Amino acid sequence: MNIIHHPDEMRQWAFDRRAEGKTIGLVPTMGALHEGHLSLMQASVEENDLTVASIFVNPAQFAPHEDYDQYPRTLKDDCAKSEAMGVDLIYAPNASAMYPRNYASYVEVERLQDGLCGVTRPHFFRGVATVVAKLFNTTVPHKAYFGLKDGQQVGIIKRMVRDLDFGIEIVALPTIRESDGLAMSSRNKYLSDSDRKRALCISRSLNTAQELMAAGEVDAARVIAKVREVMHSLEIDYIELVDAEELTPVDSIKGPVMLAVAAKVGDTRLIDNMRFDPTDDFHAAPKQYDINTSIDSEAGGA
Ligand code: AMP
Repeated sequence: MNIIHHPDEMRQWAFDRRAEGKTIGLVPTMGALHEGHLSLMQASVEENDLTVASIFVNPAQFAPHEDYDQYPRTLKDDCAKSEAMGVDLIYAPNASAMYPRNYASYVEVERLQDGLCGVTRPHFFRGVATVVAKLFNTTVPHKAYFGLKDGQQVGIIKRMVRDLDFGIEIVALPTIRESDGLAMSSRNKYLSDSDRKRALCISRSLNTAQELMAAGEVDAARVIAKVREVMHSLEIDYIELVDAEELTPVDSIKGPVMLAVAAKVGDTRLIDNMRFDPTDDFHAAPKQYDINTSIDSEAGGA
């Protein structure tokens, strides 16, 4: 598997391939790859001539007290998984090349970065937007693939791409789940057996909310109260119903919304969300809304 470690070399590779008329798909990751990441790779391989997967644990999105040092780093294994998916190149830049001495430039996406995870992790989306902008500038992709598991992140990246004229198509794909409903995450590795069982109430709560909204409930407070009830055994960070585009809280469900939750299970903070659009014909297309999408159902995968 070809690996590039330096931004200059990466940019040169991308420009050379574009000069040959090739289309490039980018899948940005922090590694410790699971089926969720692989589903993004699969889509990119299908839709582009070449797929670059970036693997970079981005220090700019971790606060000093967070898990930057403990974050799982499994480059060799990740390369093998990526190769098996048909990825053409791994871009695994060195932190010192990404953030040289006296680094001073950051991207901020105002308002969208402030709510939800931005409240307890105020540094986070500035770090994410900055690293994604840097990855876009070096891999120069035609399309980039992101998971709706990180719903706020998708909204922020889409807005950044529009506002800063990146001219890249952002493809957002459904959350891949374990067969019992737990959203796949590199951080699930941190969970003890009993915490993993407790964590299942997160996806259960979203299923309950989905049923409520599908049955016609439009009052956000009532939906949130139900979710809180199902998640009561966890240390809840937030449960919010927000406008799917603006990420601002809604009182009643009139258009596309995202129900987003974050909670600590033991020492591990997990996030999950679901999207709901009351104007869609829910019953005609239940699969589209099935939050229990798993790798062996509609999303395909390895
Ligand atoms: P990460 O390595 O956690 O930064 O994630 C890299 C990309 O994979 C992001 O676009 C995530 O949204 C996406 N991703 C992470 N978990 C999942 C999942 N369970 N299903 C689909 N995409 C995911």
